[in-house]
Amino acid sequence: MLLDCVVVGGGPAGLNAALVLGRAKKKIILFDENKPRNAVTHESHGFITRDKIKPSEFKQIALEDLKAYPEITIKNQRVYDIKTENNHFVILTSDGLTYQSRKIILATGLKDILPNIKGIHDYYGTSIFSCPFCDGWELKDRPLVVISENERAFHITKMIYNWSKDVVVCTNGKAVFTNEQKQLLANNNIELIEEEIEYLEGDKGQLRHIILKSGREIARAGGFVTAGLQQASPLAQVLGCSLNNMGGIETDNSGRTNIAGVYACGDNAVIAPAQLIVAAAEGSKAAMAVVGDLVNEDF
Ligand SMILES: Cc1cc2nc3c(=O)[nH]c(=O)nc-3n(C[C@H](O)[C@H](O)[C@H](O)COP(=O)(O)OP(=O)(O)OC[C@H]3O[C@@H](n4cnc5c(N)ncnc54)[C@H](O)[C@@H]3O)c2cc1C
Repeated sequence: MLLDCVVVGGGPAGLNAALVLGRAKKKIILFDENKPRNAVTHESHGFITRDKIKPSEFKQIALEDLKAYPEITIKNQRVYDIKTENNHFVILTSDGLTYQSRKIILATGLKDILPNIKGIHDYYGTSIFSCPFCDGWELKDRPLVVISENERAFHITKMIYNWSKDVVVCTNGKAVFTNEQKQLLANNNIELIEEEIEYLEGDKGQLRHIILKSGREIARAGGFVTAGLQQASPLAQVLGCSLNNMGGIETDNSGRTNIAGVYACGDNAVIAPAQLIVAAAEGSKAAMAVVGDLVNEDF
């Protein structure tokens, strides 16, 4: 059977794309291996009507919504490969089966690559985060650390200062600030620490101290890190989709990639701002583009 569309990825982008496609009577399968980027967090913020929701509960509600639409099938499988064949796509999944579809939506998300600092994974998603719009409120007015080894250090530090005036910045041995930026940090009483970090110390996900190589201990109640970002799936490259200089899949305003019939939405294309509500909206837009393109081809 030839499907109208295969959606790869069941985060907010893919789930909202599926909803729009199902409501447009399109026959689709959504494949999801269920390893979302925010799996490390207990609570999501900033999505109106869903503020403070558990990521697992958000997904459960979305899957319930999709049950109302009979043309939507959900499969908990990884898509391994997608090939182009005579004007349609052949999709290979982890159950060893192949599927055929006219259109593909990639909603595969991103992976965070954290700095190589002992202990950081124990606190990422519980007291160390990457996006102040997502988690700044929960850490407001507390003693915070910004950990950044790259050129985003100054920007993130300025942003975090909006939520707390008690901020230190650790570059873990890297020199990433200009003299002018250093002066601005000093003017705002932000200590810059360029020494290497030995490890992070705390308990049950709660950061308590930054321990530097020199043995100095800095008490902190939480912080933010500039993570490296990578496509969570190689499918965009496999299909020949162009990436932009931030590593996001290049699309037009409706999610169409440079490969005819392939659309991308959510974190994998947007990169920033990375939020559930943005991903869901982009999923909706990509699905509308798919429906519009199918209608134009068939009318
Ligand atoms: C620590 C942390 C905290 C955050 N907190 C918030 C917050 O409070 N509020 C907020 O709005 N945002 C928050 N975010 C951002 C939010 O998680 C992302 O913006 C959002 O998840 C992006 O949705 P998405 O659908 O693009 O990708 P994802 O949610 O990452 O979903 C992608 C899905 O695709 C699946 N997939 C990938 N490749 C394949 C494949 N080949 N086959 C099958 N399935 C595949 C993955 O397993 C995954 O289930 C946070 C992120 C992090 C890292």
